[in-house]
This record gives sequence, structure tokens and C-alpha cells, in this order.
Amino acid sequence: MGILVKIYYVNRYLHKTVNKLYSKLFELVKNKNYFVITINVDHQFQLAGFDKNNLFYMQGDYGLFQCGIPCHSKTYDNKEIVIKMLHQQKDMKIPNSLIPKCPVCGNEMSMNLRTDSTFVEDEGWHLQAKAYSDFIQKSKDKKLLLIDLGVGYNTPAIIRFPFEKMTGMNKSTHLIRINKDYAFCSDKIKDKTILFSEDISDVLDDLLK
Ligand SMILES: [Zn+2]
Repeated sequence: MGILVKIYYVNRYLHKTVNKLYSKLFELVKNKNYFVITINVDHQFQLAGFDKNNLFYMQGDYGLFQCGIPCHSKTYDNKEIVIKMLHQQKDMKIPNSLIPKCPVCGNEMSMNLRTDSTFVEDEGWHLQAKAYSDFIQKSKDKKLLLIDLGVGYNTPAIIRFPFEKMTGMNKSTHLIRINKDYAFCSDKIKDKTILFSEDISDVLDDLLK
């Protein structure tokens, strides 16, 4: 018996209820031309109704397995096996026969999450990375509103810094930053940025009015 299974289940297959925050965000953008880049890995955007073609899960997805080494860069939907694990688990452990093995090299699989350098960027990842950069490219001369929700300094190079840069470079780009702890920006983009340090949910309520 090995492997802790609970976390997959809780994060991916138990959370069928939509977090209200995501629903509010969807209300705000659903009739607009939108795109989401996120470092979250919990599937909430799809549950709230966002089109998965307009989502880029930069840091991976709980719903996918990959080779733990990795020996190749493909990912595998894990729903069926995770549900099996849940049914056969005892004290959060599963039979050895259910430990997922790589179909190519036979090593153990891991979740497709960017926790270290073994993270696999598969075909879907590259497709959405391109969709995101195409969206930015097409929007840069049009009116573009960037909304940065709760992005701090853990991985600022993914969203926080690029959003600031785009706001500075493109005449018709504006930024809304909602962040309890880091609601500030550089002086250069001050007149094109609205900062909120209030709760994200409250701000979205106000924006929806
Ligand atoms: Zn392998």
C-alpha cells in the first residue's frame, strides 16, 4: 500500500461546487473577448463556465498524470484511476497495483504540476501557451483591460510583471490590480492602473453593479 490519494480527489473530483468568486468573475467577462492565464491548478475556471480554449493553466493540472522522471512529455487523464484509488483506499493508502506506472518506461507517474524541474509541458500546454500569446498579440493595439487577481511575489514573472509591462507599453491597455497585500504599482503606469486592497469578492461585486 502506498501513495496519498486524498488530495487529488478533494481538489479535482470532489469540488463540483463552484467557488462563487469564479462565478462572479465569469459574469464579468462572459460576453467579452477574454482570456485567462492562471497559476491555479484546481479546475475552478471550467466549473464556473469559462471556455477551456480560453484558459492557460500555466502551472499544470491536478487532472493529469505524467511520467515521474519524465521519459516523455505526454500527459494522461487521471480521472478513472483516481476514482478507482478512492474506492479501494484504506487509511488514505492504495494497493500497490493501483500505483500509476508510466506506459513507456514503467516508472511511477506523478501529477502534472509544476512543483519541480520534472514538470512536463505537453501538447495541450503548448497549445494554450500559444493561444495566450496570440490573444495578447491581437489585443495590444485594441482596448485591453488586464485584471490581476491576488498575484503576489511568489512567481511575479508569470503574471504580475508582464501585466505591468504591457500596461506601460500599449497605449490602450489598462490594469486593474486587486491584492490585499500588494496593491501597488510603479509610477510609470499609475494613471492607467486602478488598485484595490479590498477583498476580491467584494470588488467583483462592485464591478458587476
Ligand atoms: Zn516514463
